[in-house]
Amino acid sequence: MKQTATFIPTLRETPADAEVKSHQLLLRAGFIRQNTSGIYSFLPLGKRVLQKVENVIREEMEAVNSVEVFLPAMQQAELWQETGRWYSYGDELMRLKDRNGREFALGATHEEVITSLLRDEVKSYKKLPLNLFQIQSKFRDEKRPRFGLLRGREFLMKDAYSFHATPESLDDTYNDMMQAYTNIFTRLGLNFRAVIADSGAIGGKDNHEFMVLSEIGEDTIAYSDQSSYAANIEMAAVKVDYPAPTESAKDMEKVETPDQKTISQVAEFLGTTADQCIKTLVFKADEELVIVLSRGDHDINEVKVKHATGAKVVELATPEEVKELLSCDIGSIGPVKLPSSIRVFADHAIKTIVNGVTGANEDGFHLVNVTPEQDFTVDAYADLRFVQEGDPSPDGEGTIQFAKGIEVGHIFKLGTRYSEDMKATFLNDQGRAMPYIMGCYGIGVSRVMAAVAEQFQDDNGFTWPNAIAPYEVHIVPVNMKDEVQRGLGEELYQLLKSNRYEVLLDDRIERAGVKFADADLIGLPLRITVGKKAAEGILEVKNRRTGETFEWKQEELLDQLQ
Ligand code: ATP
Ligand code: MG
Ligand code: MG
Ligand code: MG
Repeated sequence: MKQTATFIPTLRETPADAEVKSHQLLLRAGFIRQNTSGIYSFLPLGKRVLQKVENVIREEMEAVNSVEVFLPAMQQAELWQETGRWYSYGDELMRLKDRNGREFALGATHEEVITSLLRDEVKSYKKLPLNLFQIQSKFRDEKRPRFGLLRGREFLMKDAYSFHATPESLDDTYNDMMQAYTNIFTRLGLNFRAVIADSGAIGGKDNHEFMVLSEIGEDTIAYSDQSSYAANIEMAAVKVDYPAPTESAKDMEKVETPDQKTISQVAEFLGTTADQCIKTLVFKADEELVIVLSRGDHDINEVKVKHATGAKVVELATPEEVKELLSCDIGSIGPVKLPSSIRVFADHAIKTIVNGVTGANEDGFHLVNVTPEQDFTVDAYADLRFVQEGDPSPDGEGTIQFAKGIEVGHIFKLGTRYSEDMKATFLNDQGRAMPYIMGCYGIGVSRVMAAVAEQFQDDNGFTWPNAIAPYEVHIVPVNMKDEVQRGLGEELYQLLKSNRYEVLLDDRIERAGVKFADADLIGLPLRITVGKKAAEGILEVKNRRTGETFEWKQEELLDQLQ
């Protein structure tokens, strides 16, 4: 591509509102432009990088038999209502109405859409497993869009979903995806780590985040200095055993819950409608944290959660009071998925807690003497403390250290969470209808691009790795008004192009200083300067990353590039 034909609006100054290096340089080197908060346009160079990231991902997905599809971004509310996420997802979900007032969401993720697609089509175990992926814009109305592409409100994601007849089949695919992700991030040259991203209760085998180690990361990783243990700090709690269940499920009884709030008061607190609180309850511990209390799908003595319209909120002043409630009476909390809220117990005073999720569909009551793991599944609760730097590693080897990380990927065993809600079943080999067992696997494609940009740069600009550099070679004739330089530049450009190299030719009539500064800024791996020595057929070559320079004879160019 000739620079006069393309669009690379470089900037001399660092834009004032760009806080991190990747964002600054992506703007300065003319790769992206901000449209409005968290929403970006990709200019030609940015688009090429993005496409290369996509292609690495595609190749590795296909290598593990994940097949590409393209699902709609605009999704009818009814699908999200089936799983309750229409109510629980909160303000991050972008919602809109069509001309008839029918409600839609802009896809923040695609579990509902893909599950609804399969349930109508894949009815036999013989058609499973199936692993489908797409690369598409996602929409999330992030509270704090920031750091450019790292946290956008419209961003590109690769999301894959797998469907299985057996847990073993899901395990196999999960392991394949783990390997594919490792290959992808390795090929992109990232310094990353796969970390455990669920509570210890399920062994940390079913949910991993891929973290790029970086000072600007918003997540904290707790890792062992002597073993491979690494976990998101939110999940690296020091585990305390459940209090032994005192009674069995049959002794479950309904008791009065003190200090209650009505569902409409909860709604008011959350700034939402009562209706939205019914299926899944959400509470905010403070301004920073939004915690979803998933209702689960467990029937406790026929008291179904969906009948829990009389759910109450108890206001508690201190973490001790919360702990007391949790440990003395698990039943009052119910099938709560608490991974991110564990942190709250340790660090914050919980002001509000939702109670009655297990049922007790009568105002003012909840259940006690429920046996955890038997009557319903609980991940973690009670007396947990977050690991600190210097704690012994939970795996018994070494000592915990902290590091900052950028979450670039996340793989997750969903189980039947979505298929049950959406009645998405297949017939197993005995002819019985079973819900699909599912996994989901995301990569933030545009975030990955920013993470690479953050890592591959120096004082003068980008130092792109070959795998995703927008072009491989930058040919820079110093003086375009000089016949010889211009002619040789053009000749080399044609030669490399016809040999299938990706080349950018700086054919602008600009001062040498401007051209070199822009070339450094853009950061293509190899720069070929066609200057004064052009007349002798000598090219000045610079490796952008190492700064090494060479002189090559014109006729040896192709051999040297090999
Ligand atoms: P985060 O914790 O950073 O908010 P997440 O856990 O909400 O991310 P997932 O739902 O796991 O994100 O989505 C899969 C991947 O999509 C993430 O691992 C991340 O790489 C990317 N991603 C998520 N949110 C954004 C965003 N706002 N901008 C860019 N990429 C994002
Ligand atoms: Mg998020
Ligand atoms: Mg996350
Ligand atoms: Mg995640």
